[in-house]
Order: sequence, then structure tokens, then C-alpha cells
Amino acid sequence: MDAVSIAGGGVGGLTAALAFAAGGVPCTVHERRPAPAPGGFGIQLPPNATRVLFGLGLGPALEKVSVRPAAREIRRWSDGAVLGRIPLGEAAEARYGAPYLTLRRADLLGVLSDALAPGTVRLGSPVDGSFRPPGLLVGADGLHSSVRGALWADEPHYIGYTAYRALLPLPPDPGPPVVTVWLGSGRHVVAYPVPGALNLVAVTAGPLEGAFESWHAPVRDLVRAAAPATQHALFTRDAPPAWQRGRVVLLGDAAHPMPPFLAQGAAQAIEDAAALALDLDGYEAARRPRVERVVAASVAGGREYHLPDGPEQRRRDERIAASGLPDQDWLYA
Ligand SMILES: Cc1cc2nc3c(=O)[nH]c(=O)nc-3n(C[C@H](O)[C@H](O)[C@H](O)COP(=O)(O)OP(=O)(O)OC[C@H]3O[C@@H](n4cnc5c(N)ncnc54)[C@H](O)[C@@H]3O)c2cc1C
Repeated sequence: MDAVSIAGGGVGGLTAALAFAAGGVPCTVHERRPAPAPGGFGIQLPPNATRVLFGLGLGPALEKVSVRPAAREIRRWSDGAVLGRIPLGEAAEARYGAPYLTLRRADLLGVLSDALAPGTVRLGSPVDGSFRPPGLLVGADGLHSSVRGALWADEPHYIGYTAYRALLPLPPDPGPPVVTVWLGSGRHVVAYPVPGALNLVAVTAGPLEGAFESWHAPVRDLVRAAAPATQHALFTRDAPPAWQRGRVVLLGDAAHPMPPFLAQGAAQAIEDAAALALDLDGYEAARRPRVERVVAASVAGGREYHLPDGPEQRRRDERIAASGLPDQDWLYA
């Protein structure tokens, strides 16, 4: 294959560069940012993502900057009662052959960049819609992709929710690491440890101030401690007619942004990258049905998370209580 140009040095673009390089195809990554992304918040990497990254030889480097949560616990907004618990840790690793990790985004991007040959990533190199390098152009330039904009005329649309994010100090006696999700009417909170900090994400339709004041005191206090949190309005896009046109192909959020409620956006970008480097011609057919299922589950997950108290919410809680690791097989295996 000819040399590949990749627009966007995020999780998807850098993983694609590594996957192409593993197959002997040289790449150049054009990243708009003039410098590596600073700090940044946490990210969950489920086994379907770590399997790809470990396969690219990144296991030891990732392990050094990650936490292995023992479980994901779903809790009720009002009293913190545990509605359900999915074991992660050793159980997930044994079942899926790859671990569930949490880490800082900047560390993930650092591990990916460090594994690339020097000079692969060109920082301060924004790509616009007229960019047509020789060979293949991969649009991995995220939600507001310029590469996609040159192919299709649609725009991202706001889904009505904002994610408020913060990194908080770890409690003095944090106990085993756990991903905790508190569910309530029209809003939810996610907390998980990354090395040296607790990553908090509070999702609500309106301002953060006052949104969680009536919640169980420990989660209310976490949200209070997060203020002033960094706001991230949540957008998505309709599925494009195709992910590929001639020598231009899209991956990750540029192709299929999704609400973050399943913690799968970056994981799917990573899966895309591996599939693209393996078989350009079969890429979209191989990936699209799975991605559409994940997008649909993310949308449905948001609706389920935010049910008001009542019969539908109680049926949801029964499903959560009955759910176990095997129910995640379609996603993580
Ligand atoms: C609150 C929140 C929590 C999330 N949590 C998780 C999680 O736990 N697990 C998970 O898997 N996913 C999660 N996601 C989703 C995940 O962040 C995205 O799906 C993922 O970052 C997409 O990766 P990407 O490489 O496609 O795009 P991006 O990460 O957006 O990267 C695009 C890159 O392209 C660059 N760029 C943009 N325009 C240009 C241009 N014109 N020229 C050159 N470069 C350009 C950008 O600077 C950026 O570096 C979360 C999302 C949100 C909002």
C-alpha cells in the first residue's frame, strides 16, 4: 500500500498509525494541536480496546499508567444503594483475554505517540477539506471532522446533555478501585480512579450548580468538590451514507460519534483502526454493523440511565440486578 496520511492525532488516528506501521505501511499523522494534549481527564478502556492495544505491543507501557478496576457498580441516586455489580478485574481479563483499564487520556495519547517512529506525528498541522495527499487519507479528526465535511454536508447536533468533568483527590482510604455509576432522573454521575486521582463525570441537561443537591450525600459532595468543573456539551451526528469515498476514509468520531454512556467511543475508534489497517477494502462492511449496534446501545443506555423513579425505572433496576459479565460479551469479547 502507498503511504497513508492521517488527519487527527487522537486515540483513533494514533492507533491507526501504529496498526499501519505494524503492517509495514508508513504513515504521517497531521495533528492540529501545536503541542501534545495537556493533562486531560480520565478514560475507560474496556477489553475490546485493550485487546487491540496489547496486540500492538503496548501492554507494559499501558499497565504503568493505568488502574485495573475490580468492578463496575451501579447505584441509586437517592441512597447510594447498589443496584448491580459487574465484576471487572481478573474476571474480565480471564473471560476476554484483555484487561479493563482506567487511565488519563494524556497518558494514553503519550503511550500511543511514544510507540510511533520519530517524525510520524506532525504537530501544529491542521488539515482542511481541500487536503488531498497522494495515497490514502484517513479522517480521524473527531466529531467536527474537516475530512468528513468535505465528503458529506451534515452537521453535529447537540443531544441535550452536558458532561461536567473534574479530577479530584483520591479519598484517604479509597478501597479497591471501582467504576461507580449513580443513576437518577435526567442525570447521572460516573466516578473511577486513575493513577493518583478520582475522575468524575456528572451528566445533566442544565447547569451543574444545584443539579445533584438532593442526591445521596457522598455523591452530592463529590459533585460539589468538582465545581467549577470543565463543561463538555455532548453532540452526535447522523450516520453518513458511507465511511469511504475513493481514497478518503473516516474512522472513530469522524465516522460515528456516539453519546458517551457506554464508554465505547474511543474503544470503537481503536477497533476501527485495527480493522482499517488489516483490510481497507473490507473495512466499512466489517465495522459498520457492530458500530451501529454500539451507537444504538449508547443512545438507549442514556435513556435507561435517566429514567424517573417509577415502574419503568424499577423494571430497569431489576434488569441491572440480573445482569452479569456474560451480558457484556457482545461488547467486550
Ligand atoms: C465525557 C466523555 C467521556 C468519555 N469517556 C469515554 C470512555 O471512558 N471510553 C471510551 O472509549 N470513550 C469515551 N468517550 C468517547 C471518546 O472520547 C471519543 O469517542 C474518542 O476520543 C474519539 O477518538 P477519535 O480519535 O476519533 O477523535 P478525537 O479524540 O476527537 O481526536 C481527534 C483529533 O483530531 C485533531 N483534529 C481535529 N480537527 C483537525 C484538523 N482539521 N486537522 C488536524 N487535526 C485535527 C484533534 O485535535 C484531535 O487530536 C468519552 C467522551 C466524552 C465526551
